[in-house]
Amino acid sequence: MVREFSAGALVLRYMQKQWWVAVIEPGREGEPEDRKNVVALPKGNVDAGEKPAETALREVHEETGLKATLVAKLGDIKYVYVRKWAGNVKAFKIVSFFLTKYQSGQIDNVTAAMRHEVRRAYWLPLSETPGKLSYNGERQMAEKALQYIESHPDELD
Ligand code: ATP
Repeated sequence: MVREFSAGALVLRYMQKQWWVAVIEPGREGEPEDRKNVVALPKGNVDAGEKPAETALREVHEETGLKATLVAKLGDIKYVYVRKWAGNVKAFKIVSFFLTKYQSGQIDNVTAAMRHEVRRAYWLPLSETPGKLSYNGERQMAEKALQYIESHPDELD
């Protein structure tokens, strides 16, 4: 079994009297159906020499077009998947997630190269996010973000 380390973020933004989260639909236009309805948080591989928090902010920018600032670590999620493109090798993956706050940029303003990995990026109300994310671990991160906002009402203004 190979190991993989990724990092990602929940980007929060306050608009129209509520909190919103930047989510992505991974995959590319015209690809087979299997990933079509996936809703996920931006994340990616932790490169050599990079800290997970740096990876999270870099991936947010690459996958959503946004710049964000770090607020707090939310937690780690773990899962195993089979690399079908590499001889069915099993991969054990740990993804560290960070709570971040929107700083600048327009959502879905990504490069042509990134379009091959991200079908689209858009804002979802935080209250709906736990119910809309495809993966259980990411849903738990959204629940944690809701709890964080409730317990730190002034910190994110
Ligand atoms: P990265 O975004 O880290 O560069 P990737 O696109 O190469 O990664 P993943 O998003 O981890 O890889 O997807 C690999 C496999 O794991 C896919 O089959 C995907 O559906 C599945 N997967 C992705 N995230 C989760 C999760 N949180 N829980 C369970 N399975 C997941």
